[in-house]
Amino acid sequence: MSGLDEIAKVDPEIAQVVRDELNRLRHKIELIASENFPSRAVLEAAGTVLTNKYAEGYPGHRWYGGCEYVDVAEELAIARAKALFGAEHTNVQPHAGAQANLATYFCALEPGDTILGMDKSAGGHLTHGTPANISGVLYDAHFYCPNRETEMLDYEEIAAIARKCRPRMIIAGGSSYPRDIDFAALRAVADEVGAMLMVDMAHFAGLVAGKVHSDPVPHAEFVTTTTHKTLRGPRGGMILCRERFARELDHAVFPGTQGGPLMHIIAAKAVALLEASRPEFAEYARQIVRNSRALAEALRDRGLRIVSGGTDTHLLLVDLRPLGLTGDEVEKALDDVKITANKNNVPFDDKPPAVTSGVRFGTPAVTTRGMREEEMVEIADLVALVVRNMGSPDVMSRVRGRVEELVAGFPLYPEL
Ligand SMILES: *Cc1c(COP(=O)(O)O)cnc(C)c1O
Repeated sequence: MSGLDEIAKVDPEIAQVVRDELNRLRHKIELIASENFPSRAVLEAAGTVLTNKYAEGYPGHRWYGGCEYVDVAEELAIARAKALFGAEHTNVQPHAGAQANLATYFCALEPGDTILGMDKSAGGHLTHGTPANISGVLYDAHFYCPNRETEMLDYEEIAAIARKCRPRMIIAGGSSYPRDIDFAALRAVADEVGAMLMVDMAHFAGLVAGKVHSDPVPHAEFVTTTTHKTLRGPRGGMILCRERFARELDHAVFPGTQGGPLMHIIAAKAVALLEASRPEFAEYARQIVRNSRALAEALRDRGLRIVSGGTDTHLLLVDLRPLGLTGDEVEKALDDVKITANKNNVPFDDKPPAVTSGVRFGTPAVTTRGMREEEMVEIADLVALVVRNMGSPDVMSRVRGRVEELVAGFPLYPEL
């Protein structure tokens, strides 16, 4: 692998870890919905001397000298994010999605304020008020779930909960909700109860950029995101907000919740945002959704139950209860045949998060690799074989062979 010569000399053990990880990615089918393969340009930017620079503060107003070049990188990232998402203000410094959310809460809320987010076990996120997270400790967290029958958000139900708990902030978005979200409906609920609206588009930011998902920016005071999921950038976070919160939000990121920004990662975010503004990226986003729909349909044709009956996004959830299986055992069985996915609670799951009754599949990574609908049908075939023949060494070995053949046709990082 190029670029590892020096690591190999200094630290052969870590060089081996990197080689092993690249091999793992090349030889397995990556279906974890939150993972992706950023371009070599993004990886290169993240591996530069920009990591050395202390740049506390913001472009033009730093606490350290020598920031003239990293200022350019951050200004480019900000300008590109604002243009791509049509945002009034952008902060590109959050180290990750969790930090973007924490800074937003610190900007908009007082400790003890009421927040209303989607229940984690029904698709929400840890940082939306769960007791284990600081958001659940600092704020009085209430939750909504998708409707029991449709397994989709029911905006009347959410409005009824909001009228009762009177939140200061309503939080939308999650990690395993497979459907589009009606942000205008949530705005109306927020307005009715006098709440702010925050949309966490960590998972679907790339689909918003590619215009294949409803756009939260016109409807929400705050939009937070990661940059490494469908957006296909480096691991990191970002916040978009209304101009009237600009100063306070920047203050809530630094010095409120972070120290020095990661300038190499901000440069890599700028590269990814440039890539995401190109027509090829919009086509990529469209293909992610076509693949996700093809995978959901093919799994359904093979008798698997898809939560909410399908998907509008890059991800789908399979309910394993009708098969009498748990997410944990299916995750392990799939890993055994070189298909990487994760166990996931389904709405109203009676199993704990370490076991779960579901498995989540996402198509961002396989789509980056160049796979299309035809390959999704093949993958559905393999998944169905695994779940219907759990523990059969013959079937597992046959599936493993087909996975090897399939991935061989889609080289990953061939230059590395
Ligand atoms: C992934 C995710 C996050 C957190 O991102 P990290 O970068 O892992 O901190 C926040 N919110 C949602 C909805 C997510 O899916």
